[in-house]
Amino acid sequence: MEKKCTKCKQVKPVSCFNKWKAAKDNLRRWCKSCSRQYWQDNYRTPPGKAQAMYRAMHGRIKHKFSYKSRTVEFTKAEFLEWLKTTQYKDLFDQWAASGYEQKLSPSIDRIDNDRSYTLENMQIITVGDNSSKTRVRLT
Ligand SMILES: [Zn+2]
Repeated sequence: MEKKCTKCKQVKPVSCFNKWKAAKDNLRRWCKSCSRQYWQDNYRTPPGKAQAMYRAMHGRIKHKFSYKSRTVEFTKAEFLEWLKTTQYKDLFDQWAASGYEQKLSPSIDRIDNDRSYTLENMQIITVGDNSSKTRVRLT
């Protein structure tokens, strides 16, 4: 079985498409490599990265045991508004200028790790600063 990708217009085996229950044929309209490229490009824009950070926060509290009693106490719209008041844009520009080096990627830090994700308890720092902060805490 083959299917035409609506993005790159190539006909590829169905194994090149991700499953998607909402579709008639249960497959995504874009092939895997087009989807991957799209997310990668999107991730490297300030709004795309912000969305990814918001999703990651929800993912973390759902899946990680240590986050079990934590909650996210704001909507995505509130989060995006809040980002404008932080150094997010500057950090993003530095990250982009570095060629998207992982340790310069902007990330959300809870100022007090024992408290939930509230806008008052959060700041935007780089992944590098975030992990060195954790190391200091552990020792
Ligand atoms: Zn494609």
